[in-house]
Amino acid sequence: MSIRVSGCELCESPGGEVLHQGTQFRVVLVDDDNYPGFCRVIWHDHVKEVTDLSELDRMLLMDVLWQVEHVVREVMQPEKINLASFGNMVPHLHWHVIPRYTDDAHFPAPVWAEAKRQPTAVSRQARTERLPALRMKMQQRLSTYL
Ligand SMILES: [Zn+2]
Repeated sequence: MSIRVSGCELCESPGGEVLHQGTQFRVVLVDDDNYPGFCRVIWHDHVKEVTDLSELDRMLLMDVLWQVEHVVREVMQPEKINLASFGNMVPHLHWHVIPRYTDDAHFPAPVWAEAKRQPTAVSRQARTERLPALRMKMQQRLSTYL
């Protein structure tokens, strides 16, 4: 039985470009000019907290999160990975996996803070050029996750 809530943007839309569609979760690429390679792991059901999941589902979600981090790290070559789960605006379980660079718009602050600088076009382009590889490697790495 699936749990969907009308009016919830993550129940009603993919929430990004879908890189992998599992039976219980999806991994999407976020369309953010400042943060190429920003991915989200979104649970399909409208549950609020990780602890609302069964132990098996929790293990699956956490496993997938590390797989996504692995691929983002390998392909995007960031200075640091930021992981976050808030759900204050959209109380539907999802995790952010964000590649961070010392010259990105907010470093070392969180990406939700006030911007400190504009990333250079060269930096953004270099990162955007990695997206085809990110799509391919993410699909490969998650291909066994149903
Ligand atoms: Zn929802």
